[in-house]
Amino acid sequence: MKNNEHADAVNAGAALEFCPMMSNYGAPSLTLVEGKGTEVWDSSGVRYLDFLCGLAVTSLGHSHPVVAEAICEQAHTLMHVSNLYNTLPGPEVAITLDRLLQTFPQPGEAGPAAGTTNTGRGGATDPMLSAKPSKQLGQVLFQNSGAEANEAAIKIARKYNGRGRHVVLSAMRSFHGRTLATLHATGQPEKHDTFQPLPEGFRHAAYNDVGAMEAALDPTVGAILVEAIQGEGGVNTPDPGYLRDLRALCDDRSLLLILDEIQTGIARTGAWFGFQHAGIMPDIVTMAKGLGNGMPIGAVWAKREVAQVLKPGDHGSTFAGQPLAAAAARAVLAVMEEMDAPAVARERGAELTAGLLALDGVESVRGAGLLLAAELSEDALRGRTGADVSAACAERGVLVNGVTKTSLRLAPPITVSSAEIEEAIRIIDAAIKAEA
Ligand SMILES: *Cc1c(COP(=O)(O)O)cnc(C)c1O
Repeated sequence: MKNNEHADAVNAGAALEFCPMMSNYGAPSLTLVEGKGTEVWDSSGVRYLDFLCGLAVTSLGHSHPVVAEAICEQAHTLMHVSNLYNTLPGPEVAITLDRLLQTFPQPGEAGPAAGTTNTGRGGATDPMLSAKPSKQLGQVLFQNSGAEANEAAIKIARKYNGRGRHVVLSAMRSFHGRTLATLHATGQPEKHDTFQPLPEGFRHAAYNDVGAMEAALDPTVGAILVEAIQGEGGVNTPDPGYLRDLRALCDDRSLLLILDEIQTGIARTGAWFGFQHAGIMPDIVTMAKGLGNGMPIGAVWAKREVAQVLKPGDHGSTFAGQPLAAAAARAVLAVMEEMDAPAVARERGAELTAGLLALDGVESVRGAGLLLAAELSEDALRGRTGADVSAACAERGVLVNGVTKTSLRLAPPITVSSAEIEEAIRIIDAAIKAEA
């Protein structure tokens, strides 16, 4: 491999008194130095199939030539000038995102897999949503990450709703980020304890249970924040009617419906955005991960009436929306539109789902498109955890993650080939069968 220099730099850490990096990620098991498409190589030249994509980030695969070229060209042209000036790629990306948010899957195009079929109000049954998007519905604010996109969404909701209606209701087992406010929005109390007190104004209720959300409402609640599928929480896929019923509840009580599409957005689930399987339109949508294919960029979209509450001075970020990151996002969206990424994610997702379901140790598969979790049987686990089986997969050359104690999360690039899916299935089978 040509990457001995990288390996040397990492190994140089061994000469230090202690590791130069803080230890909040634990001891990394691998040092990855190069990637191409679905494949990555470690510092010893060992090849892996990346079926995790940096947690649903590199959806076009590693080192995608069009994205790499766009980044290089923009780096040679204009990387950064601050938000005191307009720049070119950002507004173009905003226009494209507004259009894609209105581009729903057509009838017959599969919704979430794994026991849940999309029997809900599809895009086509609602003339407003099935009509070819022709008008601009909302506005975009760029951020640098997912958590920041959610922070911005929370601030927009607070300003829109006014003092006294500032509470955001989110779901148990959700994940919305690691900043203090988004950590509080995250419905995992065990993550809260160490960092109390957290910012006030957050409350949680069970996921996939509109009645529980309704019961948690009082006049201080101004917005409901949910994921279309809970990613970090275990690829928890709600019933087909869930988002539709939440939309109705929000309409009824004049609440803003905020969809966190940071993991499910940008074609990952077989629609441009996860909520589109349910045929609804949220008031605010946040996105990040897949938008830059590895370039850090986040965005919050809000429908016009909501977006317009933000006035100069209300919010800002030095780097957000800078031309370098926006040029990457522009290239990502262009490539994805060209290949019809949602359709490809549905096709490859169906192949991967079928392959996993054919394995002895896999009890069920949940998720949609190429955001999937394989639930392992007790026989397959034999006392191991999902993390143990994912480590056994890595040893054999496939990167996945143990998203719960009993399941593996798979999020390969949308550009994954059928042959790579078959190879990964064989390796996962061997990892399940391996001696513990
Ligand atoms: C990853 C993720 C976030 C946080 O994004 P960061 O870029 O890590 O801040 C928020 N919400 C969801 C649903 C995510 O998957």
